[in-house]
Amino acid sequence: MKRLVILGGGESGVGAALLGQAKGFEVLVSDKSIIKQKFKDVLLNNDIEWEEGKHTESAILNADLVVKSPGIPDKAPLVVALKAQQTKVISEIEFAARYTNATIVAITGSNGKTTTASLTHHILKNDLKVGLSGNIGISFARQVLDCDFPNYVLEVSSFQLDGTVSFKPHIAVLTNITPDHLDRYEYQFEKYIASKFLIIKNQTAADYFIYDADDEVIEQHLKTISIQSKLLPFSLTKVIENGAYYNNNEIIITIDNNKIIMPTNNLALEGKHNIKNAMAASTVAHLLKIRKQTIRESLENFQGVEHRLEHVLKINKVNYINDSKATNVNATYYALESMEAPTVWIVGGEDKGNNYEELFPFVNEKVKAIICLGVDNEKLLQSFSSMVDIIVETQFMSEAVKIAYKIAQAGDSVLLSPACASFDLFENYEDRGRQFKDAVRKL
Ligand code: ADP
Repeated sequence: MKRLVILGGGESGVGAALLGQAKGFEVLVSDKSIIKQKFKDVLLNNDIEWEEGKHTESAILNADLVVKSPGIPDKAPLVVALKAQQTKVISEIEFAARYTNATIVAITGSNGKTTTASLTHHILKNDLKVGLSGNIGISFARQVLDCDFPNYVLEVSSFQLDGTVSFKPHIAVLTNITPDHLDRYEYQFEKYIASKFLIIKNQTAADYFIYDADDEVIEQHLKTISIQSKLLPFSLTKVIENGAYYNNNEIIITIDNNKIIMPTNNLALEGKHNIKNAMAASTVAHLLKIRKQTIRESLENFQGVEHRLEHVLKINKVNYINDSKATNVNATYYALESMEAPTVWIVGGEDKGNNYEELFPFVNEKVKAIICLGVDNEKLLQSFSSMVDIIVETQFMSEAVKIAYKIAQAGDSVLLSPACASFDLFENYEDRGRQFKDAVRKL
């Protein structure tokens, strides 16, 4: 019996354990932290061996194959030791993909992965049997085991791509690349870019690569590598003959001379970035032969994803918008860009080396007050104090929302778009977003 060791007992680890067991591996799940009770229950019910609060080296170094959680860095001593002795260390995406013949649509990028993957799934599910997974919902491994859909839309992070060997999506989507997670890439942007491009590493001339042609980083990198995939760029600014572009409130998609045109006046999602996400998702749908009418209706009735420019409530003609998932400057850039009304902006948290300069024009133009919500707000104060009349600090969401309520007048918007990680004051971005929504509802 081959021995499979899984490092990390979360959603993907437990999914991989179940799939591994079904495929005849002897399985150990090892987690250095405490495993959540709901996952422990699954492991116990299925007689899968596990440990928590430690990694017992002797039980791990004898593995034939290791599946590593994306949260564990490659430089963790145990991973270094495994690789030094030539043990294969892969990601759950790689592992699960080995056990399905499904058509895979894989979506990566620095921002917009969840939105684009959810929107793509929302369109495809009208006409196809299709699973949605990766970083979303039920793990890919578990879906392969339990239902094995003929098609999957997967949201894939760079950490998961780092653990791939033969992973080959039929359709790969790259939404954009901006500096993020550089701590895991020795602070070398090039390494992070290379990691994102692993998504097309195994593609052949029968596969497709859909990407943002307005993204300079992507365009530059494409010039330096040889590519097998068929390219389908999308753009907001230039005409694309094979791929998608935007002109005069229409998305025009052409694939091998087969053209469809879709109006965007009634798109459910707002903001330029969401037109890009819509172009990417519609291009996938057009490739997979979804009818134009279906694509159009789906774009119009997609409700969006929680914590991404999510409309919470309108109180006294003031719109409250939750964009808690904006954990970097680029995401907040698009949030501010999409604001049409004078905005009270709640921002701050754990700074990841942010440079706020690209936000200055929007702040000058649209932001009437700033509420800094972080443990250390120094950089925000320095960057923006001269630009707005009101800038205040707090460390409580309820207070931030109450201050915003006092400042905002009819017609204004109150936007939570932090541009920072949440871990200084909140459990995670979901917790931050929920606290915001709760506070708004209590007004
Ligand atoms: P990811 O899964 O890559 O983190 P999300 O879809 O969860 O992406 O969105 C994260 C943040 O980025 C949100 O604030 C959202 O409004 C913003 N965003 C969504 N799509 C894009 C895009 N194409 N470019 C830039 N920012 C985006």
